[in-house]
Amino acid sequence: MSLAGQLYKLQQLDLELQKKQQELSDVENQLSDNKALFAAESKLASQEEQLEDERKKQKSSEWELEDLQEKVGQVDSKLYGGKTKDPKELVNLEKEVKALKSQIRPKEDTLLGLMSQVEEIESRVRATDEEVEHLKEEWEQGQETLRPRKSELEIALAELKGERNRFAEQIDSEPFNIYERIRLAMGQAVVKVERGRCLGCHITVPTSQWQKAKAGDLIQCNNCSRILYLE
Ligand SMILES: [Zn+2]
Repeated sequence: MSLAGQLYKLQQLDLELQKKQQELSDVENQLSDNKALFAAESKLASQEEQLEDERKKQKSSEWELEDLQEKVGQVDSKLYGGKTKDPKELVNLEKEVKALKSQIRPKEDTLLGLMSQVEEIESRVRATDEEVEHLKEEWEQGQETLRPRKSELEIALAELKGERNRFAEQIDSEPFNIYERIRLAMGQAVVKVERGRCLGCHITVPTSQWQKAKAGDLIQCNNCSRILYLE
């Protein structure tokens, strides 16, 4: 294998390594990404808090109404119990009952409003709760498939790194360093020549250059400096 051919193969190994590394980091990201679940859980928590507040309001509204009804009952029994005979006092009691009763209706309306509010929030909480359960299930299933995929990739990467390093050791340090330098700067260090053009920069390569490259010399493109490879 020519030197350029060796470097070309090294590049293929490096590209494969890069691809696998990217895949591994994607899998790792997915494994740690539970943003959707986290968001749904915090939504549920705030809805539950809201529900508790509304239930408290409903309770105190119920108590207020009960108080009021009890007071009406007390005044009613004074009024119709027969103990009070004084007409003036009876008139006052009647006025008092009337005033108390007039407060009942608005309080009932408030209570009804609160009850429907509570029901509405309860149904929202149920929906969010289902959403959380669903996301949790989905996340756990994802973890189950991602974890073995991660191990697979780690093993493949280790093997590939070994292969790459063993292969790189066979290449002289000078061309290897040229390769590494170009790879770091441009990503792709070795390019093929097709129809007389460098496939890195698409500029025509002088015939004498690509002939030398074909013969096995290490030739770099005059324009982009990439190593030229002809099979
Ligand atoms: Zn070029």
